[in-house]
Amino acid sequence: MAMLLRGGQVYYQGQLQTADVLIKDGVIQAVAPQLMVDSDTVQVIDVTGKLVTPGLVDVHVHYREPGQTAKETIQTGSLAAAHGGFTTVVTMANVDPVPDTPEQFAKQVALNQTKGLVHIYQNSPVTKDLTSDQIVDMVAMKKLGAVGFSNDGHGIQNAKTMYDAMQQAAQVGLPIAAHVQDDALYDHGVMNAGPVAQRLGLPGILGVSESSQVARDLDLAAATGVHYHVCHVSTKASVDLIRDAKARGVKVTAEVAPHHLLFSDDDILTDNSNFKMNPPLRSESDRQALIQGLLDGTIDLIATDHAPHTDDDKAGGMCHAAFGITGSETAFASLYTAFVRLGIFTLPQLLHWLTLAPATAFNLPAGDLQVGKPADVSVFDLEQQFVYQATDYLSKGHNTPLTGQPMYGQTLLTLVDGQLVYQQED
Ligand SMILES: [Zn+2]
Repeated sequence: MAMLLRGGQVYYQGQLQTADVLIKDGVIQAVAPQLMVDSDTVQVIDVTGKLVTPGLVDVHVHYREPGQTAKETIQTGSLAAAHGGFTTVVTMANVDPVPDTPEQFAKQVALNQTKGLVHIYQNSPVTKDLTSDQIVDMVAMKKLGAVGFSNDGHGIQNAKTMYDAMQQAAQVGLPIAAHVQDDALYDHGVMNAGPVAQRLGLPGILGVSESSQVARDLDLAAATGVHYHVCHVSTKASVDLIRDAKARGVKVTAEVAPHHLLFSDDDILTDNSNFKMNPPLRSESDRQALIQGLLDGTIDLIATDHAPHTDDDKAGGMCHAAFGITGSETAFASLYTAFVRLGIFTLPQLLHWLTLAPATAFNLPAGDLQVGKPADVSVFDLEQQFVYQATDYLSKGHNTPLTGQPMYGQTLLTLVDGQLVYQQED
């Protein structure tokens, strides 16, 4: 049956406007004020005063299947995405087995398609097992649907490997999405190196473990002409390097995770593993530089790094817990609450960084409402305050410090290809 979303504040062509959205056969039929429809054949949903957006796009998620399905599955991960208003995601390759051969990669893509409730695109690993120096068959991976290459979870330690990988990725025309981490500088830390780590007596991770590899990679990207994408930028030094490289014409894009925008290491008051992620929460001046980087265009987009874990994995405090927090279900609401309601970002800015900007960076057919295109649409309530309890999440993971925090921007419904995949219960 056709569906009309009546009277919402629609984010359309980069602007917010009061309009109706007509959906039929899974496709957007019209976006215009006060559309006339036959209510016998069209289901009319009143969304007056609600925010209607293109389905959000997240280019950095971890779904743990195959191999670690106690943490998450493709089904629960994609349900969590829909719960957060995301309709298109890119999954990282650090599953078990790593899909580093064309055969394994084809299996992973098929699994994503069979089990996923939103559009799932897959990154290929850059190298075998995410750690070796043997580069995957990039031509084959692209043919099988890879949208980028990433060893996320691991930095590429050998510059020659990165140089060769960039040359090959440039040849096939796909980005390298880099988790930047020099392992020797990283040195088994568990949180940002600095006064807070010292006070808590915890081993620190130097900011230069990230930025020194960003500097190396930007030189290699300039030399190879690859599209180099920096995952989860966390330090001011990295932002400054990326800004300079963009000014020189290096083909670089960058993402920031919600948690690095929302928190600094000053927020870590106790040994709480829900503040443990990699890269870690940095200093307040780093956080301010990330916000500035978004505002001045140095950082292109926001991606969650949704990283679900079991309670056991997150046990044992900062020293023993796994790295990572969930993000799909809290991203829009937490950022809307902290930045748009306080006037730091405009709503169109935030929506751009969560829709068209990531879709453009990874060349995905998503991120805006277009007549004749698939109806991936999300509706949010911006007025009603809400609080997530741990049991409210559709992800298997509830490892996030945002549980219990009052927020605005709850998802009311999410459509993928015109089909309801999430609807808030009354
Ligand atoms: Zn990463």
